[in-house]
Amino acid sequence: MLQLLFPLPAPVLSAINRLEEAGFAAYAVGGCVRDFVLGMQPHDYDICTAASPEEMQRIFARERTIETGLKHGTLTVMIDSMPLEITTFRRDGEYLDGRHPSSVSFTDAVEEDLSRRDFTVNAMAYSPVRGLCDPFHGREDCEKGIIRSVGDAEKRFTEDALRILRALRFSARLSFPIEKKTADALVSLRDTLQKISRERIAAELSGLLMGRDCTRILSRFSPVIFSAIPQLAFLAGEKWLQTVSMLPCCPADPMIRLAALLRLCHPSGEEERCAAQARAILLGLKMPVKMLDGVQQLVEYQCLHLDEENLQEMLWRLQEEGLQRLLRFQQALAAAEGRDPHPFDLLMEKMQTLLQSGCCYQLSHLAVKGSDLAALGLRGPAIGQMLERLMMQVVHHKIPNIKNELINFVRYNTEHLA
Ligand code: ATP
Ligand code: MG
Repeated sequence: MLQLLFPLPAPVLSAINRLEEAGFAAYAVGGCVRDFVLGMQPHDYDICTAASPEEMQRIFARERTIETGLKHGTLTVMIDSMPLEITTFRRDGEYLDGRHPSSVSFTDAVEEDLSRRDFTVNAMAYSPVRGLCDPFHGREDCEKGIIRSVGDAEKRFTEDALRILRALRFSARLSFPIEKKTADALVSLRDTLQKISRERIAAELSGLLMGRDCTRILSRFSPVIFSAIPQLAFLAGEKWLQTVSMLPCCPADPMIRLAALLRLCHPSGEEERCAAQARAILLGLKMPVKMLDGVQQLVEYQCLHLDEENLQEMLWRLQEEGLQRLLRFQQALAAAEGRDPHPFDLLMEKMQTLLQSGCCYQLSHLAVKGSDLAALGLRGPAIGQMLERLMMQVVHHKIPNIKNELINFVRYNTEHLA
């Protein structure tokens, strides 16, 4: 086999050399090696070594280090301002909770460290001095394009159920089918996903939705998704295909993709209820409030007719970011349903023109303030209600945003107060 030469970045090379000079084997490992083999640019580099955490601290005494997880053997070392996670070769103890090993111990055999990793394509190590270490034929599986468990699939998914979703995520991202035994095992063990923390499920699911092959994976493995999010199980069949077939039309924005996944998530199909249910599901997955708000809005307004007439009003209601996203979401929906997506480009341009024209789309842009209304005799909630009415007049060009004009409107509509 050809000797491989991967272009490791200088800080990674330097860390590996320092460990080797001190007498310890060291390799780049996991995702970065997989990406190299596939001819892709790695987004980060993990290093593994025979050195213990104490030995690493000694070797990198002059560098800034962060004690990321010393118990598990991980030290982060800053080399030329690049943070590098360096981990001692590990062997995992027994898995008792379906997620974490009850103990870890250190070893000086890299093969042992690779054997605890999830999939063959993720279980390779590379060193410029030692070459590629690939005891589970990850390179061959990269070339064939398959996701396969390291060792016995059923055992590996039983140890850690998160691997079930990781398999789907890598399969969707790399467009690699999942090997039969691995696929059968993950489907049969899908209900063990209940043991996994909601946050981890959310993270893997979001990654899966961004994968270029996510539609195929979500349709092929729908029972797994329904085990992770039981509230979606009623969609099984035609509705699920309709749901997932929209994803390839969506931009790579997690909020839009989650909205696409959840847009039909209430049995009534009513947008407002789907929106509330989408929020509840994401809250259950412990997603941040910004995500809950954004997805709820997209699902609620998925069918709202947008045109030049109501564009400024919607700019006020959703603000620039929200409206832009809604336009992109509706555009993706149009494309998925075979409608013409072009009008949405025009509306996006129109929105930019509105913004550049300095149009009024926030209460602070209005030529009167709450205090002006108070001076006219309005009190309490009546002030907010009137500001809202004024805004509606202005965004629909019924009155210009000029103080006198607005005050006249207020006077005319509050004569009973005088
Ligand atoms: P990405 O490009 O998404 O970061 P990655 O392969 O680097 O992909 P990470 O989640 O960063 O994935 O994990 C780094 C490596 O650690 C993996 O390549 C794999 O070898 C190992 N690993 C991570 N999570 C698990 C797990 N739950 N079970 C077994 N091995 C795992
Ligand atoms: Mg990684």
